[in-house]
Amino acid sequence: MSERTERSEGREGMPGRHGMSEPLLHLALRVEQDIFLIRQRGREVAAAVGLEHQDQVRLATALSEVARELLRGVDGADVTFAVDRDVATGRRVLRVDLAPVRPLPEGRYEPQSGAVARLVDTLQVVTVESDTVVRMSRRVPDHAEELTPDRVAQLRAELAERAPGSALDELAAQNAQLIAALDEVRSQRDELAVLNSELQETNRGVMALYNQLTEELEETNRGVVALYAELDEKSAQLRAASESKSRFLANVSHELRAPVTAIIGLGRLLADSASDPLTGEQARQVGLIRSSAGDLLALVNELLDLAKAESGRIEPDWSDVDLRAVFGQLRGTLRALATRPEVELVVEEPPAPATVRSDEVLLAQVLRNLLHNGLKFTERGEVRLRAERRDGMWTLSVTDTGVGIPAELHERIFEEFYQVPGTTRVGGTGLGLPYARRLVALLGGTLELTSEPGRGSTFTVVLPVGGA
Ligand code: ADP
Repeated sequence: MSERTERSEGREGMPGRHGMSEPLLHLALRVEQDIFLIRQRGREVAAAVGLEHQDQVRLATALSEVARELLRGVDGADVTFAVDRDVATGRRVLRVDLAPVRPLPEGRYEPQSGAVARLVDTLQVVTVESDTVVRMSRRVPDHAEELTPDRVAQLRAELAERAPGSALDELAAQNAQLIAALDEVRSQRDELAVLNSELQETNRGVMALYNQLTEELEETNRGVVALYAELDEKSAQLRAASESKSRFLANVSHELRAPVTAIIGLGRLLADSASDPLTGEQARQVGLIRSSAGDLLALVNELLDLAKAESGRIEPDWSDVDLRAVFGQLRGTLRALATRPEVELVVEEPPAPATVRSDEVLLAQVLRNLLHNGLKFTERGEVRLRAERRDGMWTLSVTDTGVGIPAELHERIFEEFYQVPGTTRVGGTGLGLPYARRLVALLGGTLELTSEPGRGSTFTVVLPVGGA
């Protein structure tokens, strides 16, 4: 057995052979027994620099395997142990260089690819100062004692002193290590079994949660489906109710029209000068009957119109409507209604080309209704009808300087029979605006309102120039 520690003497603190610093021990591998020695000493060095027990055994095993390989292939090597700093990580490592006595066959020895390489952090063939060296390293734990030059010297002395054991000793030690490794494997297997059962437990938990969630989701889904079915049913009921209301209104008003017209006719007959003369009181009462019957007929007619519009029984008669003609007609017919001298009715001339694809009768009906309302609810100032054309749309607005409507009622006045409180004395049914909005919708447009109490109102009809 050949052990040499003298090589690094006088070079403490200097990088040793092959770039390693602080060599701790040199050994020569020449014969079979050296393998045992290298293994044993390797473990001692590893223990001395602070590697944990497992790592000591790993390094020693790797070392003896590589040593065996080199003895067989190139008749041995010189082995150097040193503590060094890893250039990349800056951490301390125990590094072992095995410098073969004869050159390694080119590219034939690749220890890094075998199972042995897994025992250490690095194992590779490197070229150091033109020599080829097999180098392995294992990280020294951070908590291990720092190696000062004094400590290195001490370690080196201790290692040199220690008498090498026999191959039999090393075999016994190796056996003990094998038993420890087996124990370790067994305890790891037990740990694995525990982990496995925990994992299974967790899996069961996750599955249970998943099943619960799935059930809840299905439950919710069923609820949503049921809700939708109910909603569908309700909207069908609503549609049916709305249809029967329209039908009822249409029928009743239709049925009422004949008797009311008859009453009006009879009243006219009674009051006729060709009939028997009435007393003053009788004439007054017949007059009351006639005016009430007239109001009733107006209501019945409006109800009938609305019912027809709602049930979709009004079909617009589309044509190219000349707005100037419509406006001219309205100017003529409504002048008679503008009886207050303080209120001026202004119908502006629409800009050319003043045509719109629409139903002339229905459109005139809507505008007449709005102008009529304007005149009804305006004490002084003006009621103005204006037409503007922009971006393929006609904007027809009826603006008055009348009483105005509070903001919170802007939508309500489009509901059937709704009249703003305090305005009922001027007469009316509360059906004009809902009817007007229906008609405008049939013509493909919208009817909106802006208004402020005391300042007046603007009703705006917006229609596409090309029709619905
Ligand atoms: P009617 O005029 O027959 O009462 P409408 O549906 O045309 O029914 O109008 C509903 C209500 O809206 C009216 O009773 C009135 O209170 C209000 N209203 C409509 N037009 C105007 C207006 N230009 N200015 C102020 N209030 C209005």
